[in-house]
Amino acid sequence: MKKVAILGSTGSIGTQTLDVIRRYKNDFQVVSLVAYSNGTLLIEQAKEFNVKYYSLIKDNANALMEAVSFPIDLVVVATRGIIALNAVIYCIEHDIDVALANKETLVCGGKLVYQALESSKSKVLPVDSEHSAIFQCLMSGNTKEVNKLILTASGGAFWDYNLDQLNNVDYFDALKHPNWNMGSKITIDSATMFNKTLEVLEAKWLFNVSKKQIEILVHPESIVHSLVEFCDGSVVAQIAKPDMRLPISYALFYPERANSNFETINLINKNLRFYEPDLIRFPCVNLAYELNEELPLLPTVMCAANDVCVESFSSGRIKFNDFYKIIKKVCNIFEKEIDNQISVERIYHIDAISRQKTMEIIGENEYK
Ligand code: MG
Repeated sequence: MKKVAILGSTGSIGTQTLDVIRRYKNDFQVVSLVAYSNGTLLIEQAKEFNVKYYSLIKDNANALMEAVSFPIDLVVVATRGIIALNAVIYCIEHDIDVALANKETLVCGGKLVYQALESSKSKVLPVDSEHSAIFQCLMSGNTKEVNKLILTASGGAFWDYNLDQLNNVDYFDALKHPNWNMGSKITIDSATMFNKTLEVLEAKWLFNVSKKQIEILVHPESIVHSLVEFCDGSVVAQIAKPDMRLPISYALFYPERANSNFETINLINKNLRFYEPDLIRFPCVNLAYELNEELPLLPTVMCAANDVCVESFSSGRIKFNDFYKIIKKVCNIFEKEIDNQISVERIYHIDAISRQKTMEIIGENEYK
């Protein structure tokens, strides 16, 4: 029986993780649960799964560290932003496996996570659907034999809109994702395609490849979850219905597969389309490639600026087409000011001052 802690248990991935575990009560024991602020649901979950420990981050700053300090085999990280970075590093230092649904932990702290992994027995298992796909495709070869990783992208709610139409969309339009049922922040990131910038950086760390070896392919049906091209020209893809419970159960049961009977896909008469990403309409998709790799804190600046943009977009202060201009402006400012040193404390500090700077830039319309 695997002993599991779930960080972010009331969010989209957290509830779907519990949904998977509910089907396999003999395989998993949920030891601890942490949520950000949804106390009602957290208490319900704690009762149902009879957990030893549960706590809300909003009331208890040590909740995440306390939740992973029990004897556990696996932690599921489904929190937002960089809040769980310390807890993830603690787990790796204590040989606890990490099922990672959160992108920023690697995007911002990948260097620290992989330093910790050098002297650890733990594994980082991707829960992000594209990365789970690549992880599964890599079973048929090894990283040295990889030509490139191809991340598919649904293109989000607006993949077929023109620039004028994009200028007039609002937050609620952006929340209508065509294929996936996800949290609100990630659905907005999917609409701007900032999501793919995060995923390129995430893949770089997870699979130890260069950014040049990672490509993005728009695939509106979200059925091919990603592909790997090997050095002999063979391309391996992972195909399934878009259902996050599949990558979640793959990470939970790894190295085995769950006999889960999720609905399988029928490919007969399915039209699968693939396009190059449009950098004019969705420039955020390219931010990953534009970042100066000598500066490991720059992804933290970029993520903080994007977070503030998402908030400002939700309240109508900025337009959809402003995201890239604002994020780029904040990154350019910090690129001149930061050095190449990185630590958890510096990540948190840079995160805070980047948010401040982004709010100033938006407040004073300095990005127009
Ligand atoms: Mg994804």
